[in-house]
Amino acid sequence: MSELHKFIFEGLPVRGMLVRLTDAWQDILARRAANSETGAYPAPVRQLLGEMAAAGVLMQGNIKFNGALVLQIFGDGPVKLGVVEVQPDFSLRATCTQVGDVAEDATLSQMVNVNNQGRCAITLDPQDRLPGQQPYQGVVPLFGDQGEKLENISEVLEHYMLQSEQLDTVLVLAADDKVAAGLLIQRLPIEGQGNLAGRADSVEREAALGQSEDFSRIAILSKSLKREELLTLDAETILHRLYWEEPLARFEPLIGETGPRFACRCSRERVGNMIRSLGTEEVESIIAERGQVDVGCDFCGAEYQFDPVDAAGLFTGLVPDLSGGSVH
Ligand SMILES: [Zn+2]
Repeated sequence: MSELHKFIFEGLPVRGMLVRLTDAWQDILARRAANSETGAYPAPVRQLLGEMAAAGVLMQGNIKFNGALVLQIFGDGPVKLGVVEVQPDFSLRATCTQVGDVAEDATLSQMVNVNNQGRCAITLDPQDRLPGQQPYQGVVPLFGDQGEKLENISEVLEHYMLQSEQLDTVLVLAADDKVAAGLLIQRLPIEGQGNLAGRADSVEREAALGQSEDFSRIAILSKSLKREELLTLDAETILHRLYWEEPLARFEPLIGETGPRFACRCSRERVGNMIRSLGTEEVESIIAERGQVDVGCDFCGAEYQFDPVDAAGLFTGLVPDLSGGSVH
């Protein structure tokens, strides 16, 4: 089962999380493979989306926020869009839109940043959002400090965390056809840091420097984790191997009902709203052409069909049956 482990280092300003998506990730891949129009993801796309899924769970676990965390990559290459949505209860869904071929050895930039237009967006969408209220969104380019194209989504997100939260973060991500996994280590803000310069207290400064070394040491340990280890070793083994000399304190792991799991939020009602937003003319022309309106969910593969009567009902308000109906 998929699992999320949170931990701290006692007495040190460092916290961390380890996620392993197994059944949740395999579910997402199986649904895609079952789609007769797209087929399964090529290996590089699978790795990108899996790493995004693991990162999305870590980022949702890292914030105190009652709403969806949506991690998106907008590509200018064959991968046009990657989306991962993680709810506060760690239910998640993910999908990628690919146009054209992706080589078996394609790099991140060859997939999403061919013409330097690729970017990554992190959106926090509050659950109790008021009408007209915009969700918070941060956008980061896919370039490093030296203007180089970044080839790991982990580096892109480390930049984002540093920019948005001013917190040093180490992310190690990996994904294959069975597992999507990630390790996050973050330096916690030192209490009263804002006043440090003003008070110029040398003892405090020394303490801060010492704690900085603690973070650096743990960061180096964390970066030594190989993708292969992240994919194949269980959480206990990984944490023990990396931090056996550190004062690691772990919280109860989130597994099963409380842990990360696949869930789609599509519904006939939402699809109906989407069709309604197309307008009468557009919908009538689709029905004239195809006899009905078919909408497939990219996340879970559910298919929604609206026959002429259903479609007309969307516009007159006389909706025959939105609750059940023709979901296959
Ligand atoms: Zn769905």
